[in-house]
Amino acid sequence: MTPKKQILVVEDNVLNRELLVAILENDYDTLQAKNGLEALEILQKHKGEIALILLDVMMPVMDGFTFLDKIKQDEELSLIPVIVTTQSDGEADEVAALARGATDFVPKPYKPQVILHRIASIIKLRETAAMVNQFQYDRLTGLFSREFFLQKARSVLDENPETDYTIVCSNIENFKLYNDAYGRQAGDDLLKHIAKSIRDILGDEGIYCRYGADRFILLLDSNLERAHRKAFFANSKKAPFSTPKKISVKWGIYEIADRSITVEQMCDRALLASDSIKGQYNKPFAVYDDTMREKILREKTLTDAMETALAENQFVVYLQPKYSIGEECMIGAEALVRWIHPQWGFMSPAEFIPLFEKNGFIFRLDQFVWEQVCKTIADWQQKGIAPLPVSVNVSRADTFNTQITSTLLDITQKHGVSPELLHLEITESAFTDNPQTLVDTVNQLRKAGFIIEMDDFGSGYSSLNMLSKMQLDVLKLDRQFIQNEIEKPAYQSILKDIVNMAHRMHLRVVAEGVETREQMKRLQTVGCDLVQGYFFAKPMPVADFEKMLKEHRQKTQNAQPKQQKSLGLRTLLIVDNDEKFLKKARNTFEGQYRVVEAADAQSALEFVEKHGRDELSAVILSVSLPNNQAETVLNFLNQDASLWKIPVLATMAAGDRQQCLSVARAADDFLCKLHPVFDLKKRVQHLVDAAESHQRERVLLDEACRDYITGLLNRRGLQASVNALRAEDLPLAVCLFDLDNLKMMNDTSGHEVGDKIIQTFADLLRRQTRAEDIQCRYGGDEFVVVLKRINNPETAVRIGENICKTFQKSLEEEQIESSCSCGVATCKEIDMPFGKLLEQADQALYVAKRENKGSCFLWKK
Ligand code: C2E
Ligand code: CA
Ligand code: CA
Repeated sequence: MTPKKQILVVEDNVLNRELLVAILENDYDTLQAKNGLEALEILQKHKGEIALILLDVMMPVMDGFTFLDKIKQDEELSLIPVIVTTQSDGEADEVAALARGATDFVPKPYKPQVILHRIASIIKLRETAAMVNQFQYDRLTGLFSREFFLQKARSVLDENPETDYTIVCSNIENFKLYNDAYGRQAGDDLLKHIAKSIRDILGDEGIYCRYGADRFILLLDSNLERAHRKAFFANSKKAPFSTPKKISVKWGIYEIADRSITVEQMCDRALLASDSIKGQYNKPFAVYDDTMREKILREKTLTDAMETALAENQFVVYLQPKYSIGEECMIGAEALVRWIHPQWGFMSPAEFIPLFEKNGFIFRLDQFVWEQVCKTIADWQQKGIAPLPVSVNVSRADTFNTQITSTLLDITQKHGVSPELLHLEITESAFTDNPQTLVDTVNQLRKAGFIIEMDDFGSGYSSLNMLSKMQLDVLKLDRQFIQNEIEKPAYQSILKDIVNMAHRMHLRVVAEGVETREQMKRLQTVGCDLVQGYFFAKPMPVADFEKMLKEHRQKTQNAQPKQQKSLGLRTLLIVDNDEKFLKKARNTFEGQYRVVEAADAQSALEFVEKHGRDELSAVILSVSLPNNQAETVLNFLNQDASLWKIPVLATMAAGDRQQCLSVARAADDFLCKLHPVFDLKKRVQHLVDAAESHQRERVLLDEACRDYITGLLNRRGLQASVNALRAEDLPLAVCLFDLDNLKMMNDTSGHEVGDKIIQTFADLLRRQTRAEDIQCRYGGDEFVVVLKRINNPETAVRIGENICKTFQKSLEEEQIESSCSCGVATCKEIDMPFGKLLEQADQALYVAKRENKGSCFLWKK
């Protein structure tokens, strides 16, 4: 049974009042008041419950007319229908009451049936109206409702085909958070505040509604909207929509271009525009354009395809080499993921990584990459390729994951890869976003043995100050930063300051995005440790990388026992097909250089490959050769560290200046062929002198410091390298190896066999340690390796053990009976005398030999 509706009877005459109550009794509940004032009090208490008011006009204290005036002023009360009771001859009263907002009147004396019918039909009418109203208005804000707005907007558009209209949509940032933090009431108040601002500003211009939860949508005449755009939507405190508690409102604007779509779709476009600037501080509004829609569609397509892509191995890991500037050799790589889709082809991570960071898929993709990298390293180890550390990217989103350390450890353990070989690149912005959690995570990861690199340094807001609070290993300068610094001479000293500061904090510095020789030289001068960039090599598939690594190692190994330069004239290679110039050059350099000519890139490369490393003094390269041949030659020279010392002079024909300049700039120097031969001679001389003096210092040092049988450092070389150790190489481990019974082998099988064993062992040392470590033949059958940056003594022991085991195995294959033992000591302070450390390693070695030949021992107090 539905409850009875309630009627308020306002009448001063008791008899009349009781009569009315009696008439209503069967169908309605009643409340009674003696005059207007009492009625108002009752209304305040029972507002929402009263369906109708029966009102007498003539009353003491407050009469019916005053009462009508009062309730008219109240938004809610004015909605309650009022029937006025009048005298049978009170026509004037009737008119006055209707004018003041009464709904109807009944004359006295009362006719029960008439009264009941009137009441019933008025209540019904009002309820229908209220329903319409509810449909039309939003209850909280009183603005139009979404449905009504959609209808009304459509008819406005249809009725005014000539007028341009714009849809504007609001988006309150973090509204949900606001609700949670300050409570529902505060959330409602905020919505009302914004609704009121809109109503105050627009009045009856345009139509607007509350579209849904925290969204408001406006349809405005485009001219009006454009005229007010800045003032309306500016982000300042004074802006009309400024809100309390620093809540920011974003506005999306769709200038209706296509009326064939539904109003809802138009609103969607405005919504899209507002979503596109979510979280961007200085952007209060955005105007929709079709690329936004395409972007969303594209994102949806990619999201739909990502799971399958992972399952079907469409994600492929590429490696880009990293080089040590000081040692001129490849020293590591960065893993960069690519998506190679069967239909869409090759996709760059810039296209999908930000999306995966948004939708959370990144953690799974990154895990896949980490796993692939560990597999690759394990595969190298199996094939006998000395392990090379590989950096993987750890997304900012990954750092929120509490499982990250255990996930990484599980992966490395599963593939038997030592954590030191996995470097983790964490982007700088992660450090500004959530410092404390990240500091904890990073500490955990470092404890577990991983090397931490801060990626993209200089791209965001982190300061050097902040760095001192973090435990990091490597600072990776942002690409943009390198390019800007080099181009703006005024800022060049900043680069140097950063490198120096980083070194003081025991951080190594990597520069990425190195594209030109000039940048490389500059980085070399400021003391940057490692470089990575297109200048050396682009990211490439793992197989290509492996091939490159092998070739690189072969070259650097061959180059190690420095051969005497061939005597006689030095050689100049001229790569050019311009007969006139060749003749001129031949005449110019005759007697001073042996001139070798190559008409194209291929023959040039063949010559360099065969003789280049030891004979070539300089290359004169024409950038006017067809088919980018000059670039081919330059790339070849850049990718091979042992060729860096050969200077290149680029030449170009007068007319080629424009299109060839960028290639020419990649060389050490360039010259237009129109210049007199005198200039040509001078430039070449200058380049050769500079390169030779640099080289002289290196070679002088080198030859005196190397052991001639193995090419490893000798004692003197070891001392020089140890002197050059820096704080950032800490903590160190020293492994002292002793080849057991070498003396006996020498005696019984001859010195040749002895030498061969020594060489085998030296090769093994090179392969099983990193190029940056120090490898030395300390004396007859003693070898020393200094392992840099070994956080965990067990790692050093493992490396030592591996070397001993592998050595024994390779000798067994040759059917030679020998073995080696190893003693390990570690050191954390830079001022610990190296002699002391060696002594400890020696004591450990003694224990190893005594207890168990062929084993490895760690020195302990
Ligand atoms: P990043 O970590 O800063 O990686 C360096 C980017 O610079 C790479 O772009 C690399 O190809 C490019 N690069 C290297 N040398 C040069 C150069 O000399 N010149 C220029 N112009 N660019 C150079 P890539 O491969 O397109 O990757 C873009 C970004 O995508 C990366 O920036 C990284 O933030 C993200 N990313 C790539 N792979 C992964 C991944 O496996 N996981 C995660 N989380 N992010 C990844
Ligand atoms: Ca990176
Ligand atoms: Ca980077």
